[in-house]
Amino acid sequence: MGLIRGFLEIPRAENPYRSAEERLSDFEDLHLVQPREQRCRQAGRCMNCGAPFCQSDFGCPLHNLIPEWNELLCRGQERAALERLLQTAPFPEFTGHVCPALCEKACNLADDGVTNRDNELYLIETGFANGWIRPRIPQARTGKTVAVVGSGPSGLACADLLNQLGHSVTVIERADRPGGLLMYGIPNMKLPKTAVERRIRLMEAEGVAFLLNTEADPEALAGYDAVILCSGSRKARSLPVAHMDAPGVCFAVDYLTAATKAVLSGRDPDPSARGKHVVVVGGGDTGNDCVGTALRQGCASVTQLEMMPAAPASRTSGNPWPEWPRTLRTDYGQLEAIAVQGKDPRVYETTVRQILTDTHGHLCGVETVRLDAAHQPVPGTEQTLPCELLLIAAGFVGCEEETLSAFGLTADPRGRLLPEDGSHHIGGKLFSAGDMRTGQSLVVRALADGRAAAREADAFLQRKTQIDQQGH
Ligand SMILES: Cc1cc2nc3c(=O)[nH]c(=O)nc-3n(C[C@H](O)[C@H](O)[C@H](O)COP(=O)(O)OP(=O)(O)OC[C@H]3O[C@@H](n4cnc5c(N)ncnc54)[C@H](O)[C@@H]3O)c2cc1C
Ligand code: SF4
Repeated sequence: MGLIRGFLEIPRAENPYRSAEERLSDFEDLHLVQPREQRCRQAGRCMNCGAPFCQSDFGCPLHNLIPEWNELLCRGQERAALERLLQTAPFPEFTGHVCPALCEKACNLADDGVTNRDNELYLIETGFANGWIRPRIPQARTGKTVAVVGSGPSGLACADLLNQLGHSVTVIERADRPGGLLMYGIPNMKLPKTAVERRIRLMEAEGVAFLLNTEADPEALAGYDAVILCSGSRKARSLPVAHMDAPGVCFAVDYLTAATKAVLSGRDPDPSARGKHVVVVGGGDTGNDCVGTALRQGCASVTQLEMMPAAPASRTSGNPWPEWPRTLRTDYGQLEAIAVQGKDPRVYETTVRQILTDTHGHLCGVETVRLDAAHQPVPGTEQTLPCELLLIAAGFVGCEEETLSAFGLTADPRGRLLPEDGSHHIGGKLFSAGDMRTGQSLVVRALADGRAAAREADAFLQRKTQIDQQGH
């Protein structure tokens, strides 16, 4: 049960950020890693309580066996702890970097929760460093073939489990590198791309094939026994204003993709924020990643506009523990902007009213306006901001029409490919998973959904095998 008086005497200690000054000079990992002794002590804060909300539906979507591996880590048994973690977590190196740690907020210690995410990252990185993570090559193959469309976290988790169950899996990906938003979306400082590439190499060694630069074509997939669509919720929400096509206006994921490609290739990014006044529309996590990236590229200034009022500083009565706290968070990019500009880049209850262009049609500024409680513009509150790069991070409205129409499918009114019975089985040999099925969500939820789809597809393939055998 952890350390006697563990959480009473040992304060919570997360992996700290590098200083803003230091981390702004590169795109390397934001965090400093703490030594083994510190992680074992932090694991000892877990009291193995009778009702571990951390692994319930309020906490970890993968239902990771958190108290069990914390106990083993606290005793210094890293290898056993890692084996316990890997029973439910396919890729702890991804969640260890980017999970918002729903488990920590559902922990019985509430705001002082155990540092599960950092402990998880420590365990998997210790496993890689010690050579404990080796390719797990399935002993036998079922003879069934599966195509997974999309190599984001849901596609990778789905492909991984189906491969371990003995099916022959090919992942079809339109981008030039696998990983979905893990590769092109989430910036390198939040999730180093070396971690994504290392996992892909491991999956290849285990037998998963990756077809890159390839658009899913139903005719080419006709020979597969099952097809799982894991193509994300990638249709970005636009702004209802003129000049959205002006040079200098860019959707967040396109900007972040170009930024990561530049980091990986060593070339200059296009578009770049260097020397520009940047305005980010959207106060969420994607907007924050744009702020952090623009600062690293050397922008002249960055402002982040948010339509909604600022969240409260502490939980309201309608948002009790163990629910996720809907409270004000100041993320790494905003902290960096405060360090550089001396103030929070976020401006609340405000949106863009007009995009301003110069005589060549290039973006040169934006007119903003404040919004009232009904999201209506308040007359007389218009302001002009200089702006040569406008980044739209206003959320996603659903899966892309190209993929849907290629497969003759239609999304539900919320843009999701969610079968009416709530399962993952669309019909015939088609399944869906991840953001495509649930709407834009989180890496950990996409992983859990990809594994759930794999289990359904496996049951379908087993029935198919029985039918094929009866037919002979
Ligand atoms: C900027 C940004 C930052 C984020 N940060 C975090 C974070 O810190 N923590 C967190 O938990 N979540 C974060 N998220 C959310 C998280 O990344 C997503 O919920 C998750 O990646 C969804 O996984 P997915 O596999 O369903 O889809 P995706 O990751 O979107 O992957 C879908 C893949 O399908 C491919 N594809 C699409 N159509 C086709 C086709 N027709 N043929 C072939 N390939 C196709 C795409 O190229 C893509 O690679 C972030 C999202 C964004 C946009
Ligand atoms: S995946 Fe996320 S929610 Fe689950 S244990 Fe890890 S940090 Fe917690």
